[in-house]
Amino acid sequence: MTVRTRFAPSPTGYLHIGGARTALFNLLFARHHGGQYLLRIEDTDRARSTPEAVEQILESLRWLDLSPDEAPVFQTSRESRHAEVARELLAKGAAYLAYDTAEELVAMRERATAEGRPPRYDGRWRDRDPSEAPAGIAPVIRIKAPREGETVVRDLVQGEVRVGNAELDDMIILRSDGTPTYLHAVVVDDHDMGITHVIRGDDHLTNTFRQCMVYDAMGWTRPEFAHVPLIHGADGAKLSKRHGAVGALEFRDQGFLPEAVCNYLLRLGWGHGDEEFVPRDRAIELFELKDVGRAASRMDYAKLSHLNGQYIRAADASRLATEVLRVLAAKDVRADATGEARVAALIPDLQPRARTLIEMAEGARFALLPRPIKPDAKAAALLEGDGRAMLGRLAAALGEAAWDRMALDAALRAFAEAEGRKLGAVAQPLRAALTGSTQSPPIDAVLAALGREESLGRIADAVG
Ligand code: GLU
Repeated sequence: MTVRTRFAPSPTGYLHIGGARTALFNLLFARHHGGQYLLRIEDTDRARSTPEAVEQILESLRWLDLSPDEAPVFQTSRESRHAEVARELLAKGAAYLAYDTAEELVAMRERATAEGRPPRYDGRWRDRDPSEAPAGIAPVIRIKAPREGETVVRDLVQGEVRVGNAELDDMIILRSDGTPTYLHAVVVDDHDMGITHVIRGDDHLTNTFRQCMVYDAMGWTRPEFAHVPLIHGADGAKLSKRHGAVGALEFRDQGFLPEAVCNYLLRLGWGHGDEEFVPRDRAIELFELKDVGRAASRMDYAKLSHLNGQYIRAADASRLATEVLRVLAAKDVRADATGEARVAALIPDLQPRARTLIEMAEGARFALLPRPIKPDAKAAALLEGDGRAMLGRLAAALGEAAWDRMALDAALRAFAEAEGRKLGAVAQPLRAALTGSTQSPPIDAVLAALGREESLGRIADAVG
């Protein structure tokens, strides 16, 4: 049997990071077993589904490298098939037409509540002959729920879960307007798509029993189910905006690398010993559902930042340069070819300490600023006193130096010594002149990245 999994988001908003983790688990499980991972867009709620949300979900999945192996299936495109299966169940006697009016259903619910019973459909049309159907009422199709025994699901994460069948009622599978209900559509789609393992959030666990009714009534083999606990915030409440970023693309905007986000999401709720750095290939090799925990996990943004730093250090410098330029361009700081080369030259010095691409971009921003550089208040203070005069003499000394880091470093040291100053007392005013700030990559790296002409120009601007 070839393993086939699916991720089935509803396009009613952006892709939540919990959804991204569900997608990741589906992909890893399929890859681990040499199977396929599919995507189904569950857009049957037409009032709430939007094309923008579909596009955002697809973009989020592309960014996270979680795109499916086959073209996405849109649930609405399959409505005639959902109806066909409902009619098949009707023909088999496993479902029936129910002609209740809205008022009757309300009265039924009110009576149940008044008598302290759960508001279930009482099955009144189950054995009635359609010839008794009242005129002018379009019927729904309801499935016959089993009345005795229990439904047992051996969930690959939650273990054995069961419900007494008396708890289930004859749910509607096809509405009077011919549209399928959600729980019915999901089963028909999962069956037709050949899904062998349904891996999803545990908020769908109770739906599973009702979905089993459709599988069983059609005589279809049920897939394996794995219900993964949801992600909570640090305070234990379900993760939401007030905890921090929750949309997958927000993490991109905050300067995280997609592979760091995936690694972090994997470790939220899945573990292999104490391995923390688990890149995609390793994750595919190790991923098993038995290692998914049963307890809700808590999002820890500081831990994600730390892991992101590790991925930044492992990343290819030219890719980081492209990303940093993208972040800066988004802030309207644009680079020509010279600027691009300056940023690229700085990457190896920004890489060791940064936790996000935003931090790297902030560290590289000075290289793209046009002359004259406007120093911030702290940098301006360094240029007061004899700072300017010293920079004037330094410019003359640097003018003689070969323009590579070693030679520049040697020239700075020699200058400091000749002046009887500490190296920092030379480097800090120089940094202020070159970057407009008191913090930057090492000063020889700054000089080398800017090049001779730009560096001497910026110093001259500061000297005035
Ligand atoms: N469309 C559902 C959701 O977005 C998922 C249903 C499923 O995975 O079966 O929560």
